[in-house]
Amino acid sequence: MVRIARQRIDDLFGLAEQESLRGEFDLAHRYVVLAREIGTRYNVHLLPEYREVYCRGCSAYWIEGRTVRTRLRSGRRVRTCLRCGRARRTRLRREEPTPPAPGPGRRTPAPFPEGALVGAGEDEGRSPERP
Ligand SMILES: [Zn+2]
Repeated sequence: MVRIARQRIDDLFGLAEQESLRGEFDLAHRYVVLAREIGTRYNVHLLPEYREVYCRGCSAYWIEGRTVRTRLRSGRRVRTCLRCGRARRTRLRREEPTPPAPGPGRRTPAPFPEGALVGAGEDEGRSPERP
């Protein structure tokens, strides 16, 4: 049953993406709602890649520039839902320095290397910006 639920969630997110690309945002939203309901009923977690593409407040399927706005601000990525206004903040972290480099060369890490985005330590909600 759990396997069927996962399959159905996969299908629904696929459909949601398709419809949102066609501009059918309400339909995409409906698919996300269904997928979340299935996840709740069968106690199946949505995959992390899915959790990045919808609003946790109103279940809107997020398409950059259409249903979500992304801003990088003081080491955080803030994604604001344009449907309900809920903000989702993700901390951006620099790569952990690999074993201390031998020799005198000073290394300057890139500001935000690929894959520096981490899901850990994120918070949500409309709470005011903290310093
Ligand atoms: Zn929303």
